[in-house]
Amino acid sequence: MRTTTSSLALAALLLPALSGATTTNPEHGPSGGKGKGKGKPCNNNPKPYVTSEKLQALVNIDDLLAGANKLQAIATANGGTRVFGSGGHNSTVDWIMETLEATNYYNIFKQPFTEVYSAGNATLNVVSDNGRKIESNIMTYTPGGFADNAPLVAIANLGCNPADYPASVSGKIALISRGECTFAQKSTNAKTAGALGAIVYNNADGAVAGTLGDAFGEYAPIIGISQVEGQALLASLQKGEEVKVKFDVKSVTENRITYNVIAETKMGDHNNVLVLGGHTDSVAAGPGINDDGSGTVGVLNVAVALSKFKVKNAVRFGFWSAEEFGLLGSEFYMKSVNSSETEVAKMRAYLNFDMVSSYQTLTVLGPPSQIY
Ligand SMILES: [Zn+2]
Repeated sequence: MRTTTSSLALAALLLPALSGATTTNPEHGPSGGKGKGKGKPCNNNPKPYVTSEKLQALVNIDDLLAGANKLQAIATANGGTRVFGSGGHNSTVDWIMETLEATNYYNIFKQPFTEVYSAGNATLNVVSDNGRKIESNIMTYTPGGFADNAPLVAIANLGCNPADYPASVSGKIALISRGECTFAQKSTNAKTAGALGAIVYNNADGAVAGTLGDAFGEYAPIIGISQVEGQALLASLQKGEEVKVKFDVKSVTENRITYNVIAETKMGDHNNVLVLGGHTDSVAAGPGINDDGSGTVGVLNVAVALSKFKVKNAVRFGFWSAEEFGLLGSEFYMKSVNSSETEVAKMRAYLNFDMVSSYQTLTVLGPPSQIY
């Protein structure tokens, strides 16, 4: 999801939902009031109730940029990524924990869970065309595979039905158009037909990358190429030429432990909780400063700012991991909470912040998580 909302506007968005309060302090009365207080503020809890204006005043561009640079430094020190299960993401979680703990304002829970991590890269060369290289992308969760001098076979229609795959594709590489069904379906059909690998070419301009959705299928190794390249290969095949390729997919698929961070104000009504958050992981291909470093830093700055105030209703912050692999962290959290309808009922609203601003000079975006 893209927005052009600045992080500074985030504090304004949250309120007045946050406070549900007036600026007076019903527990202590105004400081310097009448009576025996002699002008002394009550020392039990001198914080004022939060208001939109006061909260916004504590969220500033210098702190937001410092946070973005912190995340960039973490990524740079960890191979340029903050993908879940990596050192870059674990350091991100540590920094969020330390920042929240320093406020002494929240009850903080670091929630571990295990998910399947997958990454890799692909190389495709046309052996029959002097080894010409074609730019390609793996589909997430693809198995690895290698074939040299392997003939390419055009698959009929869109490769969504097993009948589209001729017997001759066995031991060769399948060339399939994108469209109609998932990459997982095409990959599974190719495997069933005995293909050593599958190449999906785009049905629109540009490159194509995507995901098989999960790691549990019987897949042929699968990569994506552009429509222009795919149609050129198809034209050669349709002319009766033999096209041979070197197809090399290296991938890793393994379980990795990762962490959500959940922090709730110690004060406030814990039966009426406003929840806000964003995902803390990046894609494997970059540091994720826009997506979702901006949301992470924005929400974290609001959490720090909020610690200067009292709240009427409790406020919970959720920092979710493994979003880029399919909302895995937030789903894990909700499954842990859904065992109790009472707990769910306490959450009165949830506000999510994903790519709430754009740090132009730091931008590195990864491929989208499309499945067909
Ligand atoms: Zn995102």
